[in-house]
Amino acid sequence: MNKTAVNPKVIYNRIYRKRATDAGFCCTCLKNPARPGFGTCESCAVKKQADYHQARVDRKAANLCLKCGLNCPVPNRSLCVDCATLKAALARDRATSKMKAGLCRRCGTNKARTGSTHCERCTLKITSTKYFGDISQYKLLGRLFVEQNGVCPYTGIKLGLGVDASIDHIIPRSAGGSNDADNVEWVHIWINFMKLSTPKSVFNGKLDDFLIAAVKHRFGVDLSSHATDLSAVSPALSSVSST
Ligand SMILES: [Zn+2]
Ligand SMILES: [Zn+2]
Ligand SMILES: [Zn+2]
Repeated sequence: MNKTAVNPKVIYNRIYRKRATDAGFCCTCLKNPARPGFGTCESCAVKKQADYHQARVDRKAANLCLKCGLNCPVPNRSLCVDCATLKAALARDRATSKMKAGLCRRCGTNKARTGSTHCERCTLKITSTKYFGDISQYKLLGRLFVEQNGVCPYTGIKLGLGVDASIDHIIPRSAGGSNDADNVEWVHIWINFMKLSTPKSVFNGKLDDFLIAAVKHRFGVDLSSHATDLSAVSPALSSVSST
Protein backbone atom coordinates (compact mmCIF):
# COMPACT_ATOMS: atom_id res chain seq x y z
CA MET A 1 0.00 0.00 0.00
CA ASN A 2 1.26 3.42 -0.81
CA LYS A 3 0.94 6.44 1.44
CA THR A 4 -2.48 7.50 2.69
CA ALA A 5 -4.38 8.78 -0.26
CA VAL A 6 -5.69 12.30 0.24
CA ASN A 7 -9.04 13.20 -1.16
CA PRO A 8 -8.44 16.22 -3.45
CA LYS A 9 -11.86 17.53 -2.51
CA VAL A 10 -10.84 17.70 1.16
CA ILE A 11 -7.69 19.64 0.27
CA TYR A 12 -9.67 21.97 -1.97
CA ASN A 13 -12.22 22.57 0.80
CA ARG A 14 -9.50 23.25 3.31
CA ILE A 15 -7.74 25.76 1.08
CA TYR A 16 -11.01 27.41 0.18
CA ARG A 17 -11.96 27.61 3.85
CA LYS A 18 -8.61 29.19 4.77
CA ARG A 19 -8.91 31.77 1.99
CA ALA A 20 -12.42 32.66 3.07
CA THR A 21 -11.56 33.05 6.77
CA ASP A 22 -8.38 34.99 5.92
CA ALA A 23 -10.56 37.34 3.92
CA GLY A 24 -12.71 37.89 7.04
CA PHE A 25 -15.62 35.58 6.29
CA CYS A 26 -17.44 33.48 8.90
CA CYS A 27 -15.60 30.17 9.48
CA THR A 28 -18.88 28.25 9.68
CA CYS A 29 -21.00 29.42 6.75
CA LEU A 30 -18.11 31.00 4.74
CA LYS A 31 -20.66 33.49 3.38
CA ASN A 32 -21.27 36.33 5.83
CA PRO A 33 -18.52 38.53 7.20
CA ALA A 34 -17.27 37.41 10.65
CA ARG A 35 -17.95 39.67 13.63
CA PRO A 36 -14.93 41.80 14.58
CA GLY A 37 -12.63 39.79 16.86
CA PHE A 38 -14.58 36.54 16.33
CA GLY A 39 -14.45 33.67 13.84
CA THR A 40 -18.16 33.46 13.14
CA CYS A 41 -20.92 35.72 11.79
CA GLU A 42 -23.83 36.88 13.93
CA SER A 43 -26.38 34.32 12.68
CA CYS A 44 -23.96 31.36 12.95
CA ALA A 45 -23.04 32.45 16.48
CA VAL A 46 -26.71 32.56 17.48
CA LYS A 47 -27.33 29.13 15.93
CA LYS A 48 -24.21 27.66 17.58
CA GLN A 49 -25.31 29.00 20.95
CA ALA A 50 -28.84 27.57 20.51
CA ASP A 51 -27.45 24.16 19.41
CA TYR A 52 -25.13 24.14 22.41
CA HIS A 53 -27.99 24.81 24.81
CA GLN A 54 -30.26 22.26 23.10
CA ALA A 55 -27.52 19.60 23.33
CA ARG A 56 -27.17 20.28 27.04
CA VAL A 57 -30.93 20.02 27.56
CA ASP A 58 -31.03 16.72 25.61
CA ARG A 59 -28.06 15.27 27.49
CA LYS A 60 -29.48 16.28 30.83
CA ALA A 61 -32.84 14.64 29.95
CA ALA A 62 -31.02 11.44 28.92
CA ASN A 63 -28.84 11.53 32.08
CA LEU A 64 -25.60 11.83 30.11
CA CYS A 65 -22.44 13.83 30.81
CA LEU A 66 -23.10 17.42 29.67
CA LYS A 67 -19.68 17.72 28.08
CA CYS A 68 -19.08 14.51 26.12
CA GLY A 69 -22.65 13.19 25.98
CA LEU A 70 -21.28 9.63 26.08
CA ASN A 71 -20.92 8.49 29.68
CA CYS A 72 -23.16 8.69 32.70
CA PRO A 73 -22.39 11.65 34.95
CA VAL A 74 -21.05 11.20 38.47
CA PRO A 75 -24.07 11.12 40.87
CA ASN A 76 -25.32 14.65 41.62
CA ARG A 77 -22.85 16.12 39.11
CA SER A 78 -23.22 17.11 35.48
CA LEU A 79 -19.96 15.63 34.14
CA CYS A 80 -18.62 12.07 33.85
CA VAL A 81 -15.47 11.06 35.74
CA ASP A 82 -13.22 11.53 32.66
CA CYS A 83 -14.58 14.97 31.77
CA ALA A 84 -14.53 16.17 35.39
CA THR A 85 -10.91 15.01 35.81
CA LEU A 86 -9.87 16.70 32.56
CA LYS A 87 -11.66 19.92 33.50
CA ALA A 88 -10.00 20.02 36.93
CA ALA A 89 -6.57 19.32 35.41
CA LEU A 90 -6.97 22.10 32.83
CA ALA A 91 -8.15 24.55 35.49
CA ARG A 92 -5.16 23.62 37.67
CA ASP A 93 -2.74 24.10 34.77
CA ARG A 94 -4.20 27.48 33.91
CA ALA A 95 -4.11 28.59 37.54
CA THR A 96 -0.52 27.37 37.97
CA SER A 97 0.76 29.19 34.90
CA LYS A 98 -1.01 32.40 35.96
CA MET A 99 0.42 32.14 39.46
CA LYS A 100 3.93 31.47 38.13
CA ALA A 101 3.65 34.72 36.20
CA GLY A 102 2.59 36.49 39.43
CA LEU A 103 -0.88 37.07 38.00
CA CYS A 104 -4.27 36.72 39.64
CA ARG A 105 -5.50 33.14 39.24
CA ARG A 106 -9.06 34.31 38.59
CA CYS A 107 -8.75 37.03 35.94
CA GLY A 108 -5.19 36.32 34.83
CA THR A 109 -4.65 39.98 33.91
CA ASN A 110 -3.99 41.91 37.13
CA LYS A 111 -1.05 41.26 39.40
CA ALA A 112 -1.85 39.07 42.41
CA ARG A 113 -1.61 40.78 45.81
CA THR A 114 1.27 39.89 48.11
CA GLY A 115 0.38 36.85 50.21
CA SER A 116 -2.68 36.13 48.04
CA THR A 117 -3.32 34.33 44.76
CA HIS A 118 -5.86 36.91 43.60
CA CYS A 119 -5.79 40.57 42.59
CA GLU A 120 -7.63 43.13 44.70
CA ARG A 121 -10.55 43.41 42.28
CA CYS A 122 -11.12 39.63 42.12
CA THR A 123 -10.78 39.28 45.89
CA LEU A 124 -13.55 41.87 46.28
CA LYS A 125 -15.69 40.07 43.68
CA ILE A 126 -15.21 36.73 45.42
CA THR A 127 -16.12 38.32 48.78
CA SER A 128 -19.20 39.96 47.25
CA THR A 129 -20.34 36.62 45.79
CA LYS A 130 -19.77 34.89 49.11
CA TYR A 131 -21.84 37.35 51.15
CA PHE A 132 -24.25 38.90 48.66
CA GLY A 133 -24.77 36.06 46.16
CA ASP A 134 -23.18 37.87 43.18
CA ILE A 135 -20.38 40.32 42.31
CA SER A 136 -22.71 43.37 42.39
CA GLN A 137 -21.39 44.74 45.71
CA TYR A 138 -17.65 44.51 45.04
CA LYS A 139 -17.14 48.24 44.47
CA LEU A 140 -19.02 49.01 47.67
CA LEU A 141 -16.80 46.55 49.58
CA GLY A 142 -13.73 48.24 48.11
CA ARG A 143 -14.96 51.67 49.23
CA LEU A 144 -15.74 50.30 52.68
CA PHE A 145 -12.23 48.87 52.98
CA VAL A 146 -10.72 52.26 52.09
CA GLU A 147 -13.06 54.06 54.55
CA GLN A 148 -11.86 51.72 57.32
CA ASN A 149 -8.23 52.32 56.30
CA GLY A 150 -8.07 48.54 55.99
CA VAL A 151 -8.12 48.22 59.79
CA CYS A 152 -10.20 45.79 61.89
CA PRO A 153 -12.38 47.94 64.21
CA TYR A 154 -12.16 45.41 67.08
CA THR A 155 -8.46 44.59 67.11
CA GLY A 156 -6.81 47.47 65.24
CA ILE A 157 -5.02 44.91 63.08
CA LYS A 158 -4.16 45.97 59.53
CA LEU A 159 -6.21 43.61 57.34
CA GLY A 160 -5.04 41.93 54.15
CA LEU A 161 -7.65 41.48 51.42
CA GLY A 162 -7.79 37.81 50.48
CA VAL A 163 -5.60 36.98 53.46
CA ASP A 164 -7.32 37.66 56.80
CA ALA A 165 -10.01 40.24 55.99
CA SER A 166 -13.61 39.08 56.21
CA ILE A 167 -17.03 40.72 56.11
CA ASP A 168 -19.13 40.93 59.25
CA HIS A 169 -22.76 41.99 59.66
CA ILE A 170 -23.15 44.53 62.46
CA ILE A 171 -26.71 43.30 63.10
CA PRO A 172 -26.56 39.60 62.10
CA ARG A 173 -28.63 38.39 59.13
CA SER A 174 -30.23 35.85 61.47
CA ALA A 175 -31.51 38.73 63.62
CA GLY A 176 -33.00 40.52 60.63
CA GLY A 177 -29.93 42.64 59.82
CA SER A 178 -29.81 43.90 56.24
CA ASN A 179 -27.19 43.34 53.56
CA ASP A 180 -26.80 47.10 53.11
CA ALA A 181 -23.55 49.02 53.27
CA ASP A 182 -24.32 50.50 56.68
CA ASN A 183 -24.75 47.04 58.21
CA VAL A 184 -21.48 45.44 57.08
CA GLU A 185 -17.85 46.05 57.99
CA TRP A 186 -14.46 44.46 57.38
CA VAL A 187 -13.10 42.57 60.40
CA HIS A 188 -10.23 40.17 61.06
CA ILE A 189 -11.23 36.62 60.13
CA TRP A 190 -10.73 35.52 63.74
CA ILE A 191 -13.25 38.11 64.91
CA ASN A 192 -15.82 36.57 62.58
CA PHE A 193 -14.95 33.13 63.91
CA MET A 194 -15.52 34.28 67.51
CA LYS A 195 -18.39 36.66 66.96
CA LEU A 196 -20.50 34.35 64.77
CA SER A 197 -24.02 35.76 64.96
CA THR A 198 -23.49 37.92 68.04
CA PRO A 199 -24.71 41.48 67.42
CA LYS A 200 -21.99 44.13 67.53
CA SER A 201 -23.70 45.79 70.53
CA VAL A 202 -23.25 42.59 72.59
CA PHE A 203 -19.80 41.69 71.28
CA ASN A 204 -18.30 45.17 71.77
CA GLY A 205 -15.87 45.39 74.70
CA LYS A 206 -16.01 41.66 75.38
CA LEU A 207 -13.24 40.61 73.00
CA ASP A 208 -11.25 38.87 75.75
CA ASP A 209 -14.21 36.74 76.89
CA PHE A 210 -14.94 35.65 73.34
CA LEU A 211 -11.25 35.01 72.64
CA ILE A 212 -10.93 32.74 75.70
CA ALA A 213 -14.11 30.86 74.76
CA ALA A 214 -12.89 30.44 71.17
CA VAL A 215 -9.51 29.09 72.27
CA LYS A 216 -11.22 26.64 74.60
CA HIS A 217 -13.54 25.51 71.82
CA ARG A 218 -10.89 25.24 69.13
CA PHE A 219 -7.79 24.10 71.02
CA GLY A 220 -9.27 22.71 74.22
CA VAL A 221 -7.08 25.04 76.28
CA ASP A 222 -8.52 27.07 79.16
CA LEU A 223 -6.88 30.49 79.25
CA SER A 224 -9.19 32.18 81.72
CA SER A 225 -6.51 32.25 84.47
CA HIS A 226 -3.67 33.54 82.29
CA ALA A 227 -5.44 35.43 79.57
CA THR A 228 -2.52 37.75 78.93
CA ASP A 229 -0.23 35.14 77.37
CA LEU A 230 -2.02 33.83 74.29
CA SER A 231 1.05 33.61 72.08
CA ALA A 232 1.79 30.02 73.13
CA VAL A 233 -1.49 28.79 71.66
CA SER A 234 -1.34 29.92 68.07
CA PRO A 235 0.46 32.56 66.01
CA ALA A 236 -2.90 33.51 64.51
CA LEU A 237 -4.28 34.13 67.97
CA SER A 238 -1.34 36.15 69.18
CA SER A 239 -1.78 38.45 66.21
CA VAL A 240 -5.43 38.93 67.17
CA SER A 241 -4.73 39.54 70.83
CA SER A 242 -1.80 41.95 70.35
CA THR A 243 -4.00 45.01 69.99
ZN1 LIG B 1 -21.81 32.32 9.38
ZN1 LIG C 1 -18.00 13.21 29.81
ZN1 LIG D 1 -8.06 39.17 39.29
